Amino acid sequence: MMKTCSLCQTEMPERYNYCYQCGEHVGETTALPVDVDPQVAETQRRQEWVIQYGCLTLIIVWTIFGLWFFFNMNR
Ligand SMILES: [Zn+2]
Repeated sequence: MMKTCSLCQTEMPERYNYCYQCGEHVGETTALPVDVDPQVAETQRRQEWVIQYGCLTLIIVWTIFGLWFFFNMNR
């Protein structure tokens, strides 16, 4: 699959975003999806939320347990 520059008509591989002859933008690589399905985006956002707050919860629980262990250790 080749791309053609709109200015100088140079053909280049699909992975190029810019023409290597004149520097003209020839479009994003098709490997990256341009428009993401809103449902997929929503799922990804929810997954990110779960990961972020999951880590935060883990850190808080870990800190509380650490303090609990520290105070009980000295008895
Ligand atoms: Zn060009």
